[in-house]
Formats: sequence, C-alpha cells, structure tokens
Amino acid sequence: MLERIRIVLIGTSHPGNIGGTARAMHNMGLSDLALVAPRCEPLTADTVSRASGADHIVHGARTVESLEQAVGDATLVVGASARSRTLPWPMITPRALGERLPTELASPEARVALVFGREDSGLTNAELQRCHAHVHIPTNPDFSSLNLAAAVQVLAYECRQAWLGQQEPTAQAEVPPTQPLASHQELERYFEHLERTLVTIGFHDPATPRQLMARLRRFTLRARPERMELNILRGILTATEQQAERRE
Ligand code: SAH
Repeated sequence: MLERIRIVLIGTSHPGNIGGTARAMHNMGLSDLALVAPRCEPLTADTVSRASGADHIVHGARTVESLEQAVGDATLVVGASARSRTLPWPMITPRALGERLPTELASPEARVALVFGREDSGLTNAELQRCHAHVHIPTNPDFSSLNLAAAVQVLAYECRQAWLGQQEPTAQAEVPPTQPLASHQELERYFEHLERTLVTIGFHDPATPRQLMARLRRFTLRARPERMELNILRGILTATEQQAERRE
C-alpha cells in the first residue's frame, strides 16, 4: 500500500525542505517522490544534510514540469493546504485521509498522490481545483502554516498508521485464546477457593470485607482467564493452604 502513495512537491524553493521531505518519507516507509518545477537545485549539500541518510529518495525522485505529469496516473489526488480558500472544496482531516487509504488503494492499479505547495505561497487555486479533496492539518488558527517537510511528516505518519492498522487489525486488543476460557462455574469455584485461602492466611476477614472479594472478582473477570490459567492459580492456592496447615 505504501509504495502506491506519492508525495508531490510543487515549486519548492529550499533544497533543505526536499531533504527533510525525503527523511520524513523514508521514516514512514514511503518512497515515491515527484518534484514539480522546483525553484531550486533539488540535490545540494543542504538536501543531503536534511535527508540524514534518505537522499536515495531524492535521487529516485521524478522531476516534471506540471502537476498533470506528476499525478496523471493517480486515482485520488489530495492537496495539502494551510488555509481555507474562497471556493469551498471537500475537506478531509489527516486521520480521515489515513482511514480512507486502505479502501482507496484496495485495487493494485490505484495510486494516491498527496500534493504540497510552495513555501511562500502554497498551492494556487487552479492547483487546488485539480484535487479530489483538500487536507488541512489542524493547527493554531493564528499560526497555521507548517514547514513543508513537517507537513509531509504529519500526513506520511497517518499513511503509516493506516498501513499498520491493516497489517494487524486486532494486534493488541484481542489476542485469541489458545486454550478454552474458564467457565462461569470454574470461576465461581476459584473465587470460593481464593476466599477460603485468604481467610486461612489471615489476609481477609469476612466480618470487615472492604469489598476485597468484589475487587478481586472484577480484576479476574477483566482478564478473561483460560481454564489452564485458573488451574495454575488454584494450584497456588492449594500450595498456600498446605503451607499454612504445616505452620499451625
Ligand atoms: N505560506 C503558505 C504555506 C506554505 S507551507 C500558504 O499560506 O499557503 C508549504 C506547504 O506545506 C503548503 O502549501 C501545504 O501543502 C503544506 N502545509 C503547511 N501547513 C499545512 C497545514 N496546516 N495543513 C496542510 N498542509 C499544510
């Protein structure tokens, strides 16, 4: 998915921003860079310095004369804009853009282009009107314009998050149990055993319960223990009771 996302920089005037863009892209696993009519020499010492090892992205970049040449094959073109323009256009947040990418890029021929404007004047109205949608990075309204490479970084990050979400949809939230889960009855037997043991070792006084059992229940139920895990806990309780008996 990430190979089919292109970063397009229009009329960039600072080589350092091209280097910074290359670094932001490589950090997030993007590699397709197009430069439209750059207003500077793209590869200078500043570029290499700001790229910090990602200058291969600039070497591999395509330099073209017009936006059309850069986005001709794109099935979705999104223009990044620091301010709202006179003519309202479909707006999308960086997060929503990321969320849309897996669907937009579902077919192997699909290509998404993210278009960024000039440091001094952004994108022209004509350029913005060639985009399906505009993305605005929510910022302080009194100081809304990010550095070009920083704006690329924010959108590239959202692209990567979307891609990661697609790789491991339920990665941390739901690890499927490898063993059968404990049944209600097994849990109840465990709670009885736990309470008995806690009384035996003098940790719990049923006369002044202080919600101890309720808290331990909530904690245990939240974990959705497997039968095997509950058996281990019951084994620990049995060993604890035996030790307590020996001491008496
Ligand atoms: N002074 C210009 C902003 C140039 S910043 C203006 O007023 O339009 C260079 C580019 O970075 C912008 O064209 C845009 O593509 C991107 N950018 C900067 N800040 C952004 C923001 N808050 N949201 C989306 N894109 C932004």
